[in-house]
Amino acid sequence: MSDRYAVFGNPVRHSLSPRIHALFAAATGQDLTYEAVEAPVGGFREAVLAFRDAGGRGANVTVPFKEEAYALCARVSERAQRAAAVNTLSFEAGGAVVGDNTDGAGLVRDLTQRLGLDLGGARILLLGAGGAARGVLGPLLLEGAAEIVVANRTEARARALERAFGGLGRVRACGLAAIPPGPYDLVLNATAASLAGEVPPLDEVVLAGAPLCYDLAYARDGLTPFVAWARGRGLRAEDGLGMLVEQAAEAFALWRGVRPETAPVLAALRGGAAGQ
Ligand code: NDP
Repeated sequence: MSDRYAVFGNPVRHSLSPRIHALFAAATGQDLTYEAVEAPVGGFREAVLAFRDAGGRGANVTVPFKEEAYALCARVSERAQRAAAVNTLSFEAGGAVVGDNTDGAGLVRDLTQRLGLDLGGARILLLGAGGAARGVLGPLLLEGAAEIVVANRTEARARALERAFGGLGRVRACGLAAIPPGPYDLVLNATAASLAGEVPPLDEVVLAGAPLCYDLAYARDGLTPFVAWARGRGLRAEDGLGMLVEQAAEAFALWRGVRPETAPVLAALRGGAAGQ
C-alpha cells in the first residue's frame, strides 16, 4: 500500500499541496498518496491522531492550525521552536509526533536559489507580525541579514517579535506609519492584506530603491495586489508561489529522504496545468 500523507487546514479545499506533492512523487518515483483534510476548528488534534492511527506517515499543517500542531508534538526542530509553529508533522514508528517548520527555509531558498538574492548583510523590511513573519525571521537572521525592520499595523505585535528575536540587536520594530527610511535590499510582505484584496497602507518612499519586493501571498498569475502595486511603481516584485513549492520540497525531503526539483513544479502551477 502507498504511504499516506495529508495537509490539515480549514479551509483547505483550495490548497495546492496535494497537487505539488503528487508532482514531486511522480518525478522522484516515490509511492505515496497525499490528501487534503479539512479539520473542524477545535478538532485538529483528534483529526491528526486519527490519521496517524489509520497509518498516515506525515502531514502538513496550514491555517489556522500551525500553533496547535506545535503544541501537539512530542519533539520539534530548533527552527520550529523559534517559530513557535509547526507546518510539517512526521509520525515515528512508535507513534510519536515530531514537528518541523519549513516555511522560513522555503522562503530563503526561493529568494537565494531562484531569485538570486544574497541575504548576507542585507537590510530587510518585513511587513506584518503574524505567524508567517515569525516563521521567517529566524531563517533570515541565520542567513546573515544585517538588519530586519518589522513593521506591523498593530505595533505591539511587532514589538513582541523584536523581543523574541532581538537578542543580537538586528531586529527593530515599528508601526506601518513610522518605518525608518530606506533603501532596503528586500521588502517582504508577510501581512494577510493581499488575501483581502488590499495593500498595506505604506508611504511608498520607503520602498524606493529596493531591488526586490516579495509578497508571501500568491496568485496563479503571480499578480497579488501587493505585486501589482509594487510593479506599478516600477519595482521588481514577486509573489510567494515559489516559497510554497520550496517549503513543500523541504517537507518532502524530510519525509522521503529525497529532494525533488522545484522549478518544473512551479512552472506547472504557473502554466495552469496543475490545480487544486
Ligand atoms: P496572520 O493572520 O498570522 O497575520 C496576519 C498579519 O497581517 C498581521 O500582522 C496583521 O496585522 C496583518 N494584516 C492583515 N490585514 C492587513 C491589512 N489590510 N493591512 C495591513 N496589515 C494587515 O497570517 P499569516 O502570518 O499566517 O499569513 C500572512 C500571509 O503570508 C498570508 O498572505 C499567507 O497566505 C502568507 N503565507 C504564505 C506562505 C507561502 O508558502 N507562500 C506560507 C505562510 C503564509 P495585525 O497584527 O495588525 O492584525
